[in-house]
Amino acid sequence: MRNSNNNVDEAELARFESMASIWWDKKSDFKALHDINVLRLNYISNRSSLESKRVLDVGCGGGILSEAMAARGADVTGIDMGKQALAVAKLHLKKSSLHVNYQLSTAEEFSHAHQDSFDVITCLELLEHVPDPSSVILSCKKSVKPGGDVFFATINRNPKSFLFAIIGAEYILGLVRKGTHTYSKFIKPVELENWASTAGLKLKDLTGLHYNPFIRKYSLGGNVHVNYMMHYRRES
Ligand code: SAH
Repeated sequence: MRNSNNNVDEAELARFESMASIWWDKKSDFKALHDINVLRLNYISNRSSLESKRVLDVGCGGGILSEAMAARGADVTGIDMGKQALAVAKLHLKKSSLHVNYQLSTAEEFSHAHQDSFDVITCLELLEHVPDPSSVILSCKKSVKPGGDVFFATINRNPKSFLFAIIGAEYILGLVRKGTHTYSKFIKPVELENWASTAGLKLKDLTGLHYNPFIRKYSLGGNVHVNYMMHYRRES
């Protein structure tokens, strides 16, 4: 279901909200996000220093990545449309003694009030859950400073990704809850690139992200058939 005003799929949001209490349970449906967190954090920080940088984490959920970036010295703002997710994220700060500024907002709303504001923007595992991914990408471009970096992570759309990300992860391995992903909303890198270049972002890197749940081995590089990350820069 789409709320046409704010690029939110209410059914998607409700699914995440129903799982909010388990965001920080490393054995839960969010296990895979916890397992790949250091890998994606290192990818981001190797390509764009985080120390003392203003960072916006779009679709931050319970704050798994937001906190990790704050721990690396970034001044992090996390936005999400899930009230419960943000409540859990805020509560977890008491445990970690880190500081993150969490706010209930879409990327679009936020970009109106915060243009050219952030050194780095991260938008991981969100694009495949919104009605109009190109609108989120454009908003990220508006909120990042000229010269700043934007990182996206999502899932490719092809028979292999259907097999791995839906049949394997949801039905065979039970890695993530059934219904978490919708095949038709997966995004080919070329589609993401079209939206990003139209928005005015320049591609710096594209990398695959591989996850072997049996041995909990995860790595970057190689093919981009299933999970992948893209690094963009706003040049002007
Ligand atoms: N980026 C985080 C969480 C990804 S899960 C990570 O990778 O660890 C997807 C998150 O997007 C959920 O927390 C959900 O509440 C949020 N979400 C879904 N639709 C949204 C929208 N339109 N705007 C902002 N957040 C949204």
